[in-house]
Amino acid sequence: MDTNGEEGKKSLNFIEAFVEKDLADGRNGGRVQTRFPPEPNGYLHIGHAKAVCLDFGIAKKYGGICKLRFDDTNPGREDVEYVDSIMEDIKWLGFQWDEVVYASDYFRQLYDFAIELIKQRKAYIDEQSSEEIAGQKGTPVQPGMNSPYRERPTEENLDLFRRMNEGEFEEGRMILRAKIDMASSNMHFRDPVMYRIIKHPHHRTGTEWHVYPMYDFAHGQSDYFEGVTHSLCTLEFEVHRPLYDYYIDLLKKDDNYRPRQTEFNRLNLTYTVMSKRKLLQLVQDGLVNGWDDPRMPTLCGYRRRGFTPLSIRNFVDKIGYTKYDGIVDVALLEHAVREDLNRIAPRVSAVLDPVKLMITNYPEGQTEMTEAVNNPEDPTAGSHETAFSRELYIEREDFMEDAPKKFFRMTPGQEVRLKGAYIVKCTGVKKNAEGGIEEIYAEYAPDTKSGMPESNRKVKGTLHWVSVAHSLPAEVRLYDRLFLAENPAEEKDKGFTELLNPDSLQVLTGCRVEAELQKAKPYDHFQFQRTGYFNLDPDSKDGKLIFNRTVSLKDSWSKVKDKA
Ligand code: ATP
Ligand code: MG
Repeated sequence: MDTNGEEGKKSLNFIEAFVEKDLADGRNGGRVQTRFPPEPNGYLHIGHAKAVCLDFGIAKKYGGICKLRFDDTNPGREDVEYVDSIMEDIKWLGFQWDEVVYASDYFRQLYDFAIELIKQRKAYIDEQSSEEIAGQKGTPVQPGMNSPYRERPTEENLDLFRRMNEGEFEEGRMILRAKIDMASSNMHFRDPVMYRIIKHPHHRTGTEWHVYPMYDFAHGQSDYFEGVTHSLCTLEFEVHRPLYDYYIDLLKKDDNYRPRQTEFNRLNLTYTVMSKRKLLQLVQDGLVNGWDDPRMPTLCGYRRRGFTPLSIRNFVDKIGYTKYDGIVDVALLEHAVREDLNRIAPRVSAVLDPVKLMITNYPEGQTEMTEAVNNPEDPTAGSHETAFSRELYIEREDFMEDAPKKFFRMTPGQEVRLKGAYIVKCTGVKKNAEGGIEEIYAEYAPDTKSGMPESNRKVKGTLHWVSVAHSLPAEVRLYDRLFLAENPAEEKDKGFTELLNPDSLQVLTGCRVEAELQKAKPYDHFQFQRTGYFNLDPDSKDGKLIFNRTVSLKDSWSKVKDKA
């Protein structure tokens, strides 16, 4: 259904529909304000991109604002390294926040609110161990038990809370709990923890605080202090929403404003894991080469691998936002990047596994420069010069001595075209002592280059090649899926690290690329003809070219789609 009533426009997702209804109802004075609230305890992954696109996208679409709020309530796990990387990745994705804020900006307000709740007898200090507290929690079908500290006098609660914050007690010695309902059918209402003691210094507030608010006590209130209207988060927070609303009700002074939480499905991708904790473990255990390893599902990993911001945004747009969790085929993401790179990547020639091809009837020492079109999809992309000469490299797999009938590549006696150049026919080979092919010989047909009288001669195969004297050595890194299991998180009997694909990285060191690539800058995209999309890795330096395969040319997604 086209809810916009405008032809060709996409229909609204359920969150946009929600926002439009709020605007139509005049809620919150017609304001739209969102936030993107990462915890700075890891790098952003592609799942976060889904939230980023929504939080910033909704604000942009409805003329509102979106703040970047670091949810820094857990000092032991957090670090400025992560703060910086998160900002870089959001900008790379193509979004700009209106302001950077931190949950720690509200520590004072939150603390004062906690004191207010103590005074209203809605919070108390519990001195039981976490085991004791867990033992009293009950089950979803059985009520819990009240803590023996539940009716502690207010003065005592206030005194202990102050001393907790002054650092008098060790971690775990006591907590501040909300006094709600130990028999509630919602487990989150059974006297949830509001504050715990943490002695680890905070990356922004240092040693100023020794008590830190729990997520549930910080998030909604931060939304409220900031003026957030639409607090969008993933489905696992749905069960937290009543508690979110409970605290807001106690805090709210203004009848014309209230933040509201709405949940959407998180992104899961096949053959990968999407939890910061697990990604951190891969990095710390040296199972990948850092957060930006091109096999990682992190945004910096995808950037290094050669994914474009547009391809990721298009992918997120395609999968959409729903209320149902599921797992998305990684082939859909690869399809999105292929689509974008097809549009923008210059076509060049690179031979990954070279074998020499000598054109015996081509004059020694002669070089022919031809113009190669950069991108047939983009007439404005221009062309570049390619050198043809007597000694070339072709792919080893493009030659077969005793070939079956359907082998349309190079084999003795069969004509093939060298892309952008002449038709050649193999006349023989030179082998080494072990019988391996050392050099292939061929003759060219002089009038068969494009624009020449015999250029239309039909041949079944076209091969890419580079000139020996005019090509450059290069290293090429080929990546495969990081995990062998389709859904590593679901495999219960094995640790996820046991499911890693041992062949996820293949390094080819003897490759040859055409001279044009001398000009390549880190992250530049290319299509290596007949092979795939590649980009220049930032490790390349001093004439040593290193390329990453972003994705192969073959589109497995189209196949999946066609079958469906
Ligand atoms: P992880 O589980 O990977 O540690 P997280 O939810 O703890 O992620 P946060 O830094 O708290 O990470 O997440 C910031 C925002 O990104 C939250 O609003 C969260 O809901 C959203 N988000 C995190 N993972 C996903 C995902 N896989 N798909 C969609 N949104 C996500
Ligand atoms: Mg989180």
